[in-house]
Amino acid sequence: MNIPFLDLKAQYQQIENEVVPAIKEAMANGAFIGGPQVTGFEEEFAAFCDSAFCVGVGSGTDALRFALMAAGVGPGHEVITVPNTFIATGEAVSQVGARPIFVDIKEDTCNIDPEKIAAAITPKTRAILPVHLYGQTADMDAILQIARKHNLLVIEDACQAHGALYKGKKAGSMSIAGCFSFYPGKNLGAFGEAGAVVTQDEELAKKMRIIRDHGQEKKYYHMMEGYNGRLDAIQAAVLRIKLKKLPAWNAARQKHAKHYNELLSSIPGITIPTQAEFAQSVYHLYVIHTDKRDALQQYLSEKGIATGLHYPLPLHLQAAYKDLGYKKGAFPKTENSAAKLLSLPMFAELTNTQIEYIAKTIKEFMTQ
Ligand SMILES: *Cc1c(COP(=O)(O)O)cnc(C)c1O
Repeated sequence: MNIPFLDLKAQYQQIENEVVPAIKEAMANGAFIGGPQVTGFEEEFAAFCDSAFCVGVGSGTDALRFALMAAGVGPGHEVITVPNTFIATGEAVSQVGARPIFVDIKEDTCNIDPEKIAAAITPKTRAILPVHLYGQTADMDAILQIARKHNLLVIEDACQAHGALYKGKKAGSMSIAGCFSFYPGKNLGAFGEAGAVVTQDEELAKKMRIIRDHGQEKKYYHMMEGYNGRLDAIQAAVLRIKLKKLPAWNAARQKHAKHYNELLSSIPGITIPTQAEFAQSVYHLYVIHTDKRDALQQYLSEKGIATGLHYPLPLHLQAAYKDLGYKKGAFPKTENSAAKLLSLPMFAELTNTQIEYIAKTIKEFMTQ
């Protein structure tokens, strides 16, 4: 049996009848950048995130960059985040001129350990940027409490957590800005690059609208230098259709995670993902840990099962961040996780038969 890591074709087949006319209409309207599809999506996604405003942008990386910039984070500032994330989290901090400061994660959830934050705070610290990794929110109450105490901003990297809940609150809605990616493989994915920031702060939303559009509020009158970072109408049209399906797709992922948990929890040498009591994960990724990771991945591949590594090399050990001066051993929990993690196939259209075959194959390898 061949099982892909992610099956975007299966998703497309489901929505083709709706999405093709919507794209045609967007093209026929001739409004390719901005326009009613974009404002319509922004309203709907803000509502979905229990947020007052949404600013559609070109990517999740733009979302992080523009949120930091609009919040006044820049040269001379430090931003606290985690090393076990996609590089975009670090890039956004560096590219606004600030310095990423990493802190280690909690071993069970693989999200930022709030108890490690205080020791990383210096007079230059301006913001905390927690990442809701794999679709599960970080411990926001603990993070917000530290931020209040030290007068720091909090911005959420919710690029993997569309619809995830923390004590019933939506990912992205708990800080000054929640940043989302609509990269095709995300829980809510466009047909190309796209992203958005949600916020409760009207002023911040206004600044981000200016930043994404070359620093102009009125055409050809630039109050600052900005970026070409807008959401386009075709992506917005696709996203509006997919947003309606997202709750059902997330529910399917949660059901698959439960099924995996049931089948994998008794296999010796396999650690299944932990869901914190405060969190309702949307399982962007389903990540197990095992000492035999490389051999298991190879075995699964031979049996037709595609897997992924998120992420094999933590940011503090990447060549790109050599200049930050971190050494191997700086973040033991992150490094330990990186050596053992394995992402199993996870997407809404996954079938029970596929999950059962994957679990059976893992068991075969671990007990042979
Ligand atoms: C995908 C992702 C991003 C970046 O999003 P792009 O749309 O690819 O720019 C940022 N942070 C995390 C955690 C992500 O998973």
